[in-house]
This record gives sequence, structure tokens and C-alpha cells, in this order.
Amino acid sequence: MFNKIALVGGTHGNETSGIQLIRNWQAFGLPSRFSTLNVSLNIANEAALEANVRFVEEDLNRQFTFDGLASSNTSKEAVLAKTLNQKFGPKGNSATDFVIDIHNTTSAMDATLILLEADEFHTQLGRYVKQHMPEANILVEDEKPYLEHGYLCTTGKKGVMIEVGGQPQGVLREDVYLLTQTMAEVILDFCVAYNQGDISTDALPPCEAFRLGENISFPLSEKGQRTAMIHHSFQDSDFAPLLPGMPMFRTFDGKDINWEGDKETYPHFINEAAYHKLDVAFATAERFTL
Ligand SMILES: [Zn+2]
Repeated sequence: MFNKIALVGGTHGNETSGIQLIRNWQAFGLPSRFSTLNVSLNIANEAALEANVRFVEEDLNRQFTFDGLASSNTSKEAVLAKTLNQKFGPKGNSATDFVIDIHNTTSAMDATLILLEADEFHTQLGRYVKQHMPEANILVEDEKPYLEHGYLCTTGKKGVMIEVGGQPQGVLREDVYLLTQTMAEVILDFCVAYNQGDISTDALPPCEAFRLGENISFPLSEKGQRTAMIHHSFQDSDFAPLLPGMPMFRTFDGKDINWEGDKETYPHFINEAAYHKLDVAFATAERFTL
């Protein structure tokens, strides 16, 4: 049963669609069909919102490991994480049944639901979202156990992320906003159905999903400077198959660098602005049936 659900926006202060959805639901109320749910509406990092930045000192959405929460780190976000962990968690012994954390990306990922486990519950959730929102992408990041992630949503007994794009940082696009709203509502519809006992094993048809592979870095010179950019034919191709031999980078002296994997991959977070400092160009995934 979901007795307590936390909807969160503004974990990253310049990701406006989730922030605006929280603000609007605070102002106008949640749709009445969710009246049986106990949903709190939360803005995570007000200081980052104020400054219109992703974070003030450190990425808040990496602070929620057990080590991070126990550390003496005094950065603004490390301190904030401890407060939020008391509010939503505490992680591992949480008073919140479900944390839904809303993000957006500069990559053309459309509406993506990020699941951190592919167990029975999340399988049903993923299938339900795909059935009610066929344009959604279901991305599974289960390369490590749920509680080992540093994400804010892991303060809940269960936690997922909504990730919608492409939307520039600090900008609100109506199409991205509407996809965000739709996905949040479909997840809450699932919670209502789940509480009513309407979600039964094998009731929902299996669906396409993607499992995170690895991050691919931009090519760098010996001095650590980039020597290439995302190839024009690859830009905005999130979740489209990247086949061996297809170009992914164009070097600044005009040569193509191709994907040399032994099979196709499903790239996402292509040219994500927030990964600039990390020199991450995109992430790979494999397609599977959830
Ligand atoms: Zn984010």
C-alpha cells in the first residue's frame, strides 16, 4: 500500500518543468482522482532555484549514499541532503512509501521513467506507464542495489525519477512540461490502482525497456581538451539504435568517429549539459523486454 507519497521537484535548481508542476499543484491542487493518496509536494533545493543553477556547491542528487549521509561534509547540498533524509527517509528505514523525483534534461529523451530495480513491483509500474503513455521510455538503472545509489529518491521505501527533455537549463518548454505532468499523473494513477488491488501479476503486457550500460566520454587531447563534438547525425537521437559503424563524433579537424561496439546500443543523455564537467558525451543502454 502507498500511504505516503512524496513528489519532488527542484532537486536540480535549473530544471524548471518539475519545479513548475509542483508549484502549480501547490496552487491549484492535485487532480481530484488522487484524493485517496497522501501526496506531499516538495521543492528540494530552494537555494539552487533562487540562483537558477543545478546546485550551489555539490550535486544534491549524488549525496544520498549511506556514506554521504553519514559524512561530516559541510557543503550546502551535503547538509541539505541530511535534512531531506530526515524529511523523506530515513533511508533504509523510510517513513515514505514512494518518492517520485522530477528532473529534466537537455537531451532529447522525451518522457523517460527511470527505475532503479526491475523487481515485480517496478516491472508492473514500467508496464503500466508504457501502456498508458506509449511514447514514454522506460530506463532501468539496476547496475547496483537500490540503496547503493546516491539519488534523492532512494530515501523512500521505493523511489523513481521522471526525466524529460530536451529542455535547456532554466527554460520552461510547454511540450516538456506537459509530458512531465502526464508521466507524474500516470504514476499516481498506478498508485491508486495498486492500492485498490487492481494491479495483478501478468495483468499488464510486457513492454520495451532499456538497461543502462556505460558512460561514453568525449575524445580528449593529452591536455584534456575535447577534440571532437557530437556528430550532427547523432545529436537528438536518444534511444534510437546506434549501429556499429555509425558516426557518433565529428573531430574538429573534420573526421568522423564511429561507434565500434560489436552490436547496436541505445544511446541517451546525448550532449547533456549537466555532464559537461565530466566530459560525458552520452550513456549507452541495451534494449530488453520488461
Ligand atoms: Zn536533474
